[in-house]
Amino acid sequence: MKKKEFKTESKKLMDLMINSIYTNKEIFLREIISNASDAIDKLHYMSLTDKKIKVNKKDFEIFLSVDKDKRTLTIKDNGIGMSKEELETNLGTIAKSGSEEFKTENEHKKNIDIIGQFGVGFYSAFMVAEKVEVISKKYGSDEANKWESSGIDGYTISSADKDSFGTEVILTIKPDSEEENYSKYLETYEIESLVRKYSDYITYPIKMEVSHTHLKDKKNESDEDEYETVTEIEVINSLTPIWRREKKNVSDEDYNTFYKDKFNDYETPLRHMHIKAEGTFEYTALLYIPSHAPYDYYSKEYEKGLQLYSNGVLIMEKCADLLPDYFSFVKGVVDSPDLTLNISRETLQQNRVLKTIANSIENKIKKELETMLEEKKEDYEKFFKDIGLQLKYGIYNDFGMHKDKLQDLLIYTSSIDEKTTTLKEYVNRMKEDQKNIYYACGETIDKIKMLPQVESAKEKGYEVLYCTDQVDEFVFMTLRNYLEKNFVNVCGENTDFDTEEEKEELKKANEEAKEMFDIMKESIPEVTEIRFTNKLKEHPVCLSSKGEISVEMEKTLSNMPLNNGLKASKVLEINQNHEIAKTLKKLGKKNKEELQDYAKVLYAEARMIEGLPVENPTEIASLVCKFMAK
Ligand code: ADP
Repeated sequence: MKKKEFKTESKKLMDLMINSIYTNKEIFLREIISNASDAIDKLHYMSLTDKKIKVNKKDFEIFLSVDKDKRTLTIKDNGIGMSKEELETNLGTIAKSGSEEFKTENEHKKNIDIIGQFGVGFYSAFMVAEKVEVISKKYGSDEANKWESSGIDGYTISSADKDSFGTEVILTIKPDSEEENYSKYLETYEIESLVRKYSDYITYPIKMEVSHTHLKDKKNESDEDEYETVTEIEVINSLTPIWRREKKNVSDEDYNTFYKDKFNDYETPLRHMHIKAEGTFEYTALLYIPSHAPYDYYSKEYEKGLQLYSNGVLIMEKCADLLPDYFSFVKGVVDSPDLTLNISRETLQQNRVLKTIANSIENKIKKELETMLEEKKEDYEKFFKDIGLQLKYGIYNDFGMHKDKLQDLLIYTSSIDEKTTTLKEYVNRMKEDQKNIYYACGETIDKIKMLPQVESAKEKGYEVLYCTDQVDEFVFMTLRNYLEKNFVNVCGENTDFDTEEEKEELKKANEEAKEMFDIMKESIPEVTEIRFTNKLKEHPVCLSSKGEISVEMEKTLSNMPLNNGLKASKVLEINQNHEIAKTLKKLGKKNKEELQDYAKVLYAEARMIEGLPVENPTEIASLVCKFMAK
């Protein structure tokens, strides 16, 4: 029989599995059982919508058996099964969108992350088995096939015999090595404990042949002790899905294990919410807030949604209507007896029950996030680092419809201690007469800190919020104000922290220099205004903007594919207390050409400080050298 090669990505993954030093090898069983359960789910679901499929819910089961002599562990299900083509595509390739990532694997830690991240399920069998056989018969078909592989160099598919539909996975367990005792996976007590640990919540019975040896009943007192071995079939999982169990009987570890397995995440979630609601409609939900964004979270591929059950029976894998976009990171299951089983997607969407549940869930998530922010700030920061952006989009999208709900979930780095702060905390700390919430934008905190306007605001005792997301400023525009305080960019033109006197003095200086500035402006037409300022401490110049569009926003907008050429109306501000101001005043109107050269260089400097490109670098370089050579 000709061996077929695995696809490149699968090969890499397989290699990873076979040579894995992953300490958690035992998870292979959970992965295979989980696949079996999914396969039964599929058949079960089909039978609900297709009258031709006649299966009895009571017959569904996953059966485990061991043969110590042959060193095999078999996992058998009566689910949907796989056709020959499906064996080929499902087991010969990893059809995961993230599989490209495997190309970058090298260090061990990263590999483990990948194992978890993509839930590479089936291949994990190769961590403990030297040979894997999968015999499968698709429901409704008469032919069965066997997929077989002993590892990296390929697999074969041949026709096989199998009585009934479903799948049988036969693992030939590796021989024991110095580091690893593989034989334990052939012991029923070990298997039993693994099922209890990882697969207890599976909703179909997981059965196993278990042998017990015990003392035989004696006919007469004087009889010798005699032992007998009885073999029985036992159901080893508790069958009640975790969300239907009493909260007090579920440990944090149970909750977390369920999450990791169900949602293919290798990291423990930050919070779980186990909700039993009895209002207009009854529902149970188990929701999780992950500790990081899924790898494809900000891509189009990401599908939000909660798993939907009706009385313990899966009716939809990802019900998007249960989650608003801004909470799309939440994972979990919802189970309600008020939902009918055979509802199609269309009727679902309009379902009043679903709407009510969705609203209730939204409130619960919001409260949970607020609690986390209040009680576990570090966790919240971790969460916000990855997912905060989505909350910001939530404020900005839909014309700000949801801003009131979300504004208290925002956190920013504060200029006071470079720790995070909420808007409420900021306002509570404000000076009595302060009317505005000040912020500054830039690529990184370090860059923002160096902005001259930020230095000067801090000098004057004002707290500044450091904003590093491009969307931040749009968020503030959407919010307009918070607790009646306006949001003000310290780099905007109207920001000044001067006293009345200082203002008066500055006004005079600017009036006197008006003609000079007009001459300078001729050489830098992009600039709408030039003026002296008091807001710069040591820096010679800065760039600010007039009107709605700030310099930072111009940068963002120019990066957008459909940028409409919107530009900030720029103001070149020159530090009145800097040597350069004196030099300019001295030059006055008399030397037009030199004045204009200075203007060009000063404008270029201001652009550099703002992180904007200098558009005429050669000219500027020559000018600087000209000054230096003087
Ligand atoms: P995942 O379960 O994450 O999709 P796996 O590598 O574990 O990835 O399995 C690949 C695919 O093989 C599954 O998506 C499923 O279509 C199929 N499969 C695996 N085990 C079974 C089974 N016992 N019955 C039917 N199909 C199965």
